Amino acid sequence: MSKVTELTCIRCPIGCAITVTQDDEGKVTEIVGNSCQNGYLYAENEVTNPTRIVTSTVRVDGGVLPVVSVKTNGDIPKARMFDCMKEINRVHVRAPVSIGDVVLKDVLGLGVDIVATKNVGVMKDGRVYSRTGSGDDQLPRDSV
Ligand code: SF4
Repeated sequence: MSKVTELTCIRCPIGCAITVTQDDEGKVTEIVGNSCQNGYLYAENEVTNPTRIVTSTVRVDGGVLPVVSVKTNGDIPKARMFDCMKEINRVHVRAPVSIGDVVLKDVLGLGVDIVATKNVGVMKDGRVYSRTGSGDDQLPRDSV
């Protein structure tokens, strides 16, 4: 008996309604409703090996903000999201933090890093200092 799954494509804001049909062995036999190849691949992946980008926050020590927003720099299996969040919750980083900094490398051995998506500077003498570019120099900034 075939299995039919109704999905809403999340690859772009249009949100096409896609119907995927699989045979008894789980093989995809038909995909309809997608408007482009990206939607086809999304739907196929979603019923066979669903993955997600994980977004969260990590605690920051010594910064002008207590946390920094982070995300995976690639998709991870949807089934590992909870484990990934537990790993992220264990992490503390020291300010300053810059966008793109790796705060947790190769999370769960999945080949994906957790990276900062915001700058968090440090306060010194009434000014906010933040790292710039890839260097470790600290330059005064007006905002975090
Ligand atoms: S199928 Fe294509 S057009 Fe439709 S929501 Fe997905 S990415 Fe967008």
